[in-house]
This record gives sequence, C-alpha cells and structure tokens, in this order.
Amino acid sequence: MERKEKLLIVEDEADIRELVSFNLEMSGYEVIKAADGEAGLDIARSHHPDLILLDLMLPGMDGLQVCRQLKADQQTRGIPVLMLTARAEEDDQVIGFDSGADDYITKPFSPRVLVARVKAALRRIGPAQETSSHRVVEIHGIGIDSARHEIRVDGQPVVFSATEFSILRFLVENPGWVFSRNQIIDAVKGEDYPVTARSVDVQILGIRKKLGERGEFVETVRGVGYRMRGE
Ligand code: CA
Repeated sequence: MERKEKLLIVEDEADIRELVSFNLEMSGYEVIKAADGEAGLDIARSHHPDLILLDLMLPGMDGLQVCRQLKADQQTRGIPVLMLTARAEEDDQVIGFDSGADDYITKPFSPRVLVARVKAALRRIGPAQETSSHRVVEIHGIGIDSARHEIRVDGQPVVFSATEFSILRFLVENPGWVFSRNQIIDAVKGEDYPVTARSVDVQILGIRKKLGERGEFVETVRGVGYRMRGE
C-alpha cells in the first residue's frame, strides 16, 4: 500500500484542531496533532512530517517563532509550512513570508480550500525530492542545489521558504527569459492554486532581500513580469 503523507497540525484551539485533522484524515492523510509551538517543534524534528499546518496565534511561542525555528534547522527547513491565521491583512502575510512560511490560510476556511492548499503545497515540494541526480545550477553567484534543497549566494548558504525556492529556481533555470506573474504561479504551483499576482510580488521582494547585492539580477520588466538577467 502507498505510504500516507504525514501532516502535522499545530493549533491550540481543540475545535479547529479536530476539524482540520478530521478533514485531512478523510482525504487520506495521516495527521499528527500538537497543541502548542514547543510540542510542534519536537514532533516536527522526531516525526519528519511532509507538511506542517501552523496556527499563528499560539500560547507561549507563536506561529512565527515556530516557523523561524523550523526554517533555521537543517532537519526541518525543507518541510512546507502553511500558516493558519485569523487576520487577512497583507502586512501579516509579509511578516509570514519573512518567517519562511510557504502559504497562508485565513480562518474561517472551508475544508475544500484547506485540502486543495495542502495538496498544492505537497505537489510543489514533490519534484525537488524526486530529483535523484545531484544537479547544481548556478548563475551570477546564485547556486541552487535541488537535491539538497539548498541555495548558496556567493558560496554562503541562505535560507529560503519553499515557495521562494521554487520561484528562484524557475528563474535561474531560465536566465534571460521574461515570465509574467501568472506564468510564475503556474510554474511553481500548478494552475488550480489560488494565489494572486500581488503575492508573487511579495515573494520576489523577499527573494531579492535575501539575495543581497545579487538581488539586482532578478529584474522587473515593466508591464510584463520578472526575469533572471542572462549571462
Ligand atoms: Ca490559536
């Protein structure tokens, strides 16, 4: 039998925790539950889930702190994180993306949307793990190692979220080509993923910041989209 994908839900509110895990179990996932951030981190390290659903507002360590710790740890940084939040303001999203979260789901959400987002996140992490050949692509001092899920800037490892990683890899693999925001969304997430053009801009902003001086090679092409400058 095929291995069930293992999801970790970190949520202090028992009602939501049960609702989410019920719906995910019905969709064929194995679900592990944690009621606070510390327990979530422990389980993430010991059970290596395929994806983590992380509530933003948690007692003690909040979701952002948990996410930063996950992304700072070699063992857990490759695990996609979907942040559950009650607030839809874009500022919160920016903070979330800075923390390394891969996506947001705003409460209240329908089970259908939840399952679709989980599937999309698992799918975009999939191809990188399936790549068995150890291939490193490099341009302008930006080196991407898909197998290790690692990016080096001028030889120094820099931590990117899974979504930033996918977008940057897509641009680096196609230097000189201009892509619209929608093409970028399709390339990294698949067509059914309900992401906006604005969130591509937010991701690009985050990517440039993390690239430092190398960020200038990720060029905005006015009225069209983005490209990685060619050689
Ligand atoms: Ca909460």
